[in-house]
Amino acid sequence: MAFSVVRSTNPRSDADRAAILEAPGFGKHFTDHMVRIDWTETDAWSQGQVLPYGPLSLDPATAALHYGQEIFEGLKAYRQPDGSIATFRPDANAARFQRSARRLAMAELPAQLFVESLQALAEIDQEWVPNDPAESLYFRPFMIATEVGLGVNNPSRSYTYLLIASPAGAYFTGGVRPVKVWLSTEYTRAAPGGTGEAKCAGNYAAAFLAQAAATAQGCDQVVWLDAAEHRWVEEMGGMNLYFVYGSGPSARVVTPALTGTLLSGITRDSLLVLAGELGYTAEEGKISTDDWREGVRSGAITEVFACGTAAVITPVGAVDSANGGWTIGDGTPGPISMQLREHLLAIQTGRAEDTHDWMLKLV
Ligand SMILES: *Cc1c(COP(=O)(O)O)cnc(C)c1O
Repeated sequence: MAFSVVRSTNPRSDADRAAILEAPGFGKHFTDHMVRIDWTETDAWSQGQVLPYGPLSLDPATAALHYGQEIFEGLKAYRQPDGSIATFRPDANAARFQRSARRLAMAELPAQLFVESLQALAEIDQEWVPNDPAESLYFRPFMIATEVGLGVNNPSRSYTYLLIASPAGAYFTGGVRPVKVWLSTEYTRAAPGGTGEAKCAGNYAAAFLAQAAATAQGCDQVVWLDAAEHRWVEEMGGMNLYFVYGSGPSARVVTPALTGTLLSGITRDSLLVLAGELGYTAEEGKISTDDWREGVRSGAITEVFACGTAAVITPVGAVDSANGGWTIGDGTPGPISMQLREHLLAIQTGRAEDTHDWMLKLV
């Protein structure tokens, strides 16, 4: 389906854009355009529109504002060595967006439309993709319930899909910095049967207070434990976790299994594949906070890292909790964490062969 295009009459000047790309930060600046596709019960998906980036006009009784029917995605486009622009596993994001929609009783955007929306925005705003391979253009696809009214008993009968994009600077400036994490036994991110597996706004709203508590404890991030026992490790903030057992070629990397309360990260899934290819044993498992503490004490666990689209891989250097804390190794980034990070980034930026057909050229 071809997208209609209304060009911005007021795009940023080359000089303004260059100043932004000099130090883009994360999620602070947005490109000149956005994509919009509407859904209604009678007409299904409307023609996609590329529009000037700008405010939405919403009735104050719009469903999304009251009952949180909102889902989102996050993925990046990287400038390739030949100057083209490519993104990483957009089909996986499209599929997850559909699963999130299903869980929130929303309309499912066809995967092809999802990918075409990325192509349409990348095409018109291609100047916004940084040239530095440590930087990227972050896409934020999202969908809101737009029916007007306060009835609580039924899902909305109309939805609006939107896609915006924001240049993203290097996540770590001045070297990769390990984080210190707080084990949260007071708050829960997700419970069995809940929405933990969906990428929905409400999960984040429910997490901010725990994140603030972690910050108050002098930590960078919160680690979520299972809801029933507060014992089994699930995730870190908005990222998945990996534990490295042993070292060298015989190392084993383990990530908590997807129980229905974890968000199924595309970075997590990709690293299971890549770690195996690099010769490590890569598997899903079950790790308790006691296993973590004892494994680090005995030396069995040598590295811990978190992974997600925004930071790719972030080493975890230290842990704190209501029952005390510990340091992982010497608290600095471990060699396997860094090797995996480099390898995945090399694929994403076109410096390593893409043997899995993970990269999709957008422009
Ligand atoms: C998005 C997200 C992740 C990471 O997923 P990626 O696809 O790797 O970016 C992990 N946990 C939560 C809670 C998330 O929302």
